Amino acid sequence: MTAEASSNTVDNTATAYPQAPLLTPAAFPPRVNLFGLDRAALREQFEKMGEAGFRADQVMLWIYRRGVSDFEQMSNIGKALRARLATHFVIRPPELVTEQVSVDGTRKWVLKLEQAEGKPVTMIETVYIPEATRGTLCISSQAGCAMDCSFCSTAQGGFSRNMSTAEIVAQVWFAGKTLGGDFQNERVISNVVFMGMGEPLANYNNVLPAIRILLDDFGFGLSKRRVTVSTSGLVPFIDRLAGDVDTALAISLHAANDKLRDQLVPINKKYPIAELMEACKRYLAGKDRKAHIVYEYVMLDGVNDQPEHARELAKLLNGQGQAAKVNLIPFNPFPEARYKRSTPEAITRFSEILRAKGLLTMTRRTRGDDIDAACGQLVGKVQSKQKKRLGDIPVRVQ
Ligand code: SAH
Repeated sequence: MTAEASSNTVDNTATAYPQAPLLTPAAFPPRVNLFGLDRAALREQFEKMGEAGFRADQVMLWIYRRGVSDFEQMSNIGKALRARLATHFVIRPPELVTEQVSVDGTRKWVLKLEQAEGKPVTMIETVYIPEATRGTLCISSQAGCAMDCSFCSTAQGGFSRNMSTAEIVAQVWFAGKTLGGDFQNERVISNVVFMGMGEPLANYNNVLPAIRILLDDFGFGLSKRRVTVSTSGLVPFIDRLAGDVDTALAISLHAANDKLRDQLVPINKKYPIAELMEACKRYLAGKDRKAHIVYEYVMLDGVNDQPEHARELAKLLNGQGQAAKVNLIPFNPFPEARYKRSTPEAITRFSEILRAKGLLTMTRRTRGDDIDAACGQLVGKVQSKQKKRLGDIPVRVQ
């Protein structure tokens, strides 16, 4: 431990590390991207370096509350430590490939992920949806997706790879910077939803620290009800999530009977509706009374949008004995889609049946469809030679 770290108060000076080995830059291992470390992990790194843990907190405030990516600007960190940090770490946002702005103000960014030598270029999409009272950022957690839902365009491209924690978190930082809000006061991003590309719970080990950074007061400091994990229903990970962090949960239900759900959301064959609903009960069991689960239901013309489907859904959700909200999502078309969007009349009739049965029901407004930024339209540019789908990929609890 250095003298400086043990006293905690001494400002770093250029001479604070006489014992630091003289290494050429090439001798350093690759620098760790700080977007990938939650506070506990960053503190651990600092402590290993002989630095006080609170320095890690200060660095996080610079990154997430002030939008700073250059150690030199971290003025309450001594000069010597800043230099030392720069040799070990980097704060590297993703590379912007394209930005599209919809007539409704929705923005879609195609971002290039970190590219390891010899690996293909991988791109993902991030979408910002401004509304009168909130700004929602829809982030990706995987390049591609292996869940193979039959109505989702991401599924068409197959699965390329998991995104790292750094890549997941950096989307939020990038969007915050690009939108130009003051990171401290004016919140351009009030909500973050894991509803971009990928199945977040299939990349649990990288998604969990990302959620922690989103919620941490030294990170983005978002409220726990404003960070939503949306899942097609990976039951074991719903339980793990419940135990690890407090965040909002959305379930991509889309059908209230197994026969239909097996076709729409194939993971249902592994974790059928009854098991999923039990997991949802367990998820809310330990939470405060304001907590609820949002059930997403894509409206597919003539497939799952009939009055009998609505009654079946109401029965299922009312049987939960817990607060449930239904979010009806008019199907967003994409090339080669085998479905059509339900008619406005069918959607209204469906939501009226649910409401009459006491369910809080919202119809999601379609945003950004002129730039293919709506739910289920995100494809990125996944250059995967071997397209992997559900079945090729073992889904297991690690
Ligand atoms: N894998 C996660 C997040 C995916 S996308 C999940 O399944 O929840 C977020 C939501 O958009 C999901 O409810 C998904 O089922 C829905 N969705 C996918 N494709 C769609 C489409 N073409 N039209 C409307 N909603 C779609």
